[in-house]
Amino acid sequence: MASKPEKLLAVKGMNDILPPDSARWEWFEQEVRALMARFAYRNIRTPIVEPTPLFVRGLGEVTDIVEKEMYSFEDRLNGEQLTLRPECTAGVVRAVVEHNLLYEGGKRLYYMGPMFRHERPQRGRYRQFHQIGAETLGFAGPEIDAEMILLADALWKVLGLTDVRLELNSLGQPEERKQHRAALIAYFEQHADQLDEDARRRLHSNPLRILDTKNPAMQALVEAAPKLIDFLGEASLAHFNQVRAMLDAAGVAYTINPRLVRGMDYYNLTVFEFITTRLGSQGTICGGGRYDYLIEQIGGKPAPAVGWALGVERVLELLKEQGGEQPQPVPDAYAIVPDASALPTVLKCLQAVRAAGVSVQMHAAHSTSAQGAGGEGMGSMKSQFKKADASGAHYALIFGADELARGEVTVKALRDGVGAQTCHPLADVGAWAARLQSRT
Ligand code: ATP
Ligand code: MG
Repeated sequence: MASKPEKLLAVKGMNDILPPDSARWEWFEQEVRALMARFAYRNIRTPIVEPTPLFVRGLGEVTDIVEKEMYSFEDRLNGEQLTLRPECTAGVVRAVVEHNLLYEGGKRLYYMGPMFRHERPQRGRYRQFHQIGAETLGFAGPEIDAEMILLADALWKVLGLTDVRLELNSLGQPEERKQHRAALIAYFEQHADQLDEDARRRLHSNPLRILDTKNPAMQALVEAAPKLIDFLGEASLAHFNQVRAMLDAAGVAYTINPRLVRGMDYYNLTVFEFITTRLGSQGTICGGGRYDYLIEQIGGKPAPAVGWALGVERVLELLKEQGGEQPQPVPDAYAIVPDASALPTVLKCLQAVRAAGVSVQMHAAHSTSAQGAGGEGMGSMKSQFKKADASGAHYALIFGADELARGEVTVKALRDGVGAQTCHPLADVGAWAARLQSRT
C-alpha cells in the first residue's frame, strides 16, 4: 500500500468562503448590483492576470504594492512578465483604452472580484482578498467626484452600516504637488534624525508617502509637515470647494484630512477614504479619488477619471461586528425518497418543480466514505423526515411506493399548518409548484 497522501491546505492568507458565510457574500453582491444599476453604472470584468508593466507604470514604482506586494511570475512559454492583479483600476483603464470605450463619451463602470497582495496576513488583511470598485472615465467636473462619494454613501445605507466616516482631501495638480514636494523634502531634511528607515528611503523618491506612515513615533513630525492644501491654486481649490458644496447639500458628513494621500501615485485633486473605528488598524473600508493622468500614462488619449474600491472582507467583517444575523437560504421543499428505485421518476419530477421557480432539495444516499457510496441505501423514512425538517423546507414531497403506484406524490406541510397533506398526480406537480410560487 502506498503511504497516505499528505493533506493539502489553502495558501496562507487566502481563504475559502464557505456556507453559511457565503450567504452574506451573495446578499452583499446582490445589493451592490442593484445599487449600481440605480446609479446607471455598468459591469466590467477584466482578467485576473495582467502584464506586470501595467502595474509598475500605473501604480508607480515607489509604492507598497509595486515594491513588495505583487505576485509576479514569468510566462513559461514566452517569458512575458505577468502579475496577479493587486487592484483593478489599472486593468479597467487598460481595457477602456484597448477597446476605445471613451470614443462615444464618458463611462460609468463597476467591478467585483479577487485581488492579490503579498502582505502579512491578519484580520482584515489577506493575500487574496476581494474588492468591489467603481470607476468613471471621461468626466472632468466635480459633480462626478460627488456622485461617486454619494454612491458609496448610499451603499453603506443599503447595507445598514453605521460607524463609517468620510475623510476628504485634495492632492491638487502635479505642478502644485511639485512645490509642496520641495517644501516637504526641505522640512523632512531638517528633521532627518526623526525619520524611520522607510521614510529615509522615500525622502527623495516619494516624500508624499511619508505622510501616510503608520509609525506612531513619526506622527507628531508628520502632523506638523507642510500641508499640500496650502499649495493649491485657484482652480484646484474651486474644484475641491464644489465637491464639498455638493456633499453638504446632500447631507453627507466628512472631515478634511490634509494628510490623506492614498497608496497609489495616480491620484490628483479629490481623494477620500471611508473609515470605521471598529476594525482596529484595518479600519479603511473604501478608498478612492480622481486620477486624471493615469489613462495617458497607460498609453491612452488623455481623459479624466475618478474611482474607488472597497474591501469586501472588511465591509462584511464590520457588518458582522455590528451584529444582525444573515438569513440563511432554505429550500421550499425537501423530496423524501424511501426507495432508490424511485430516483429516475423523482429526478424528472423535481425538474418540473424547479422550472416553476420552487426550490427543492432531493434526499440522496449519504455516505462519508468513497467506497461506501450507494451501499447504504436511502435511509429510513424517519431519518429522511429529520433531514427534511433540518433543511428548513416548508414542504416534504413524499415519493413513497404507494404514491408512485398510483402515479402520485404526497405533499406534506412541515411548517405552517404542519401535517396537512395533499396528493397530486406526478404530471401535475409542476402546476402545484406554480401555484405555490404565485402565492409567495
Ligand atoms: P491599507 O492602507 O489598509 O493597506 P490600501 O491603501 O492598500 O489599504 P487600497 O489599495 O486603496 O488599500 O484598496 C481599497 C480597499 O481594499 C482598502 O480600503 C481595503 O478596504 C481593501 N484592502 C486593501 N488591501 C487589502 C488586503 N490585503 N486585505 C483585505 N482588504 C484589503
Ligand atoms: Mg495596502
